[in-house]
Amino acid sequence: MIFDIMTLFPDLVNYVLGESIIGRAQKSGAIEVATYNIRDYSEDKHHRVDDTPYGGGKGMLMMAPPIDRCYHAICQRRKEEHSRKRVIFMSPSGKLLDQKKAEELAGYDHLVILCGHYEGVDRRIIDEIVDEEISIGDYVLTGGEIPACILVDCVARLVDGVLSDPECYENESISSGLLEYPQYTRPYEFHGVKVPDVLISGHHENINKWRREKAMELTVRNRPDILEKFGKEESH
Ligand code: SAM
Repeated sequence: MIFDIMTLFPDLVNYVLGESIIGRAQKSGAIEVATYNIRDYSEDKHHRVDDTPYGGGKGMLMMAPPIDRCYHAICQRRKEEHSRKRVIFMSPSGKLLDQKKAEELAGYDHLVILCGHYEGVDRRIIDEIVDEEISIGDYVLTGGEIPACILVDCVARLVDGVLSDPECYENESISSGLLEYPQYTRPYEFHGVKVPDVLISGHHENINKWRREKAMELTVRNRPDILEKFGKEESH
């Protein structure tokens, strides 16, 4: 799967996505991540990419032409006609990212992601090239780079060959419909607290029952909204 990211801060994105599991997935070829510096597509002699908003107001807006040229350079480079492509703008006004959306996006072959900065982006280029606006939460960040890294991370780990064992995500918080049960590893006793007896009993049925009960307790306590949401979806 290909992730092409249009940004003013490619180093930030490359650094975050170059480490750990996502970094290894790039090296193994399970995914490809490429960043494009929008500033390189400015035709202004000072490489300007932003200007003041029409109608007044504080702050600067990213201009449409450099983004347009950057996007067309990506299209030219990829030249794919049959692959499933989706263009996404990271935006606090977008639809909220959740696990279901990540699963849906993992079904595409190619995601092109636009990161905004400053006060945002000229609406005309969003209307022209973007298929979907996605927010990572109800708060405002300084730029779309961290949201883009979050999007790539949660979609990429659903791509074949990225995680060593797909079961890693099948039983996990949210995708299972419940938050994940508590987990323990060595040492057996830590600061006077021992691992629950059931987990060393070797009785798999009891272990599964205990895990389900704990997952339910945690979900009721921390995220009752998930129970409601999955309950509604299952009854449809
Ligand atoms: N003026 C914009 C507004 O009120 O919607 C906020 C612009 S924000 C300071 C700059 C950029 O950061 C946005 O264009 C977007 O790309 C990114 N951004 C900020 N918060 C975000 C969020 N919660 N989810 C996704 N992207 C976000």
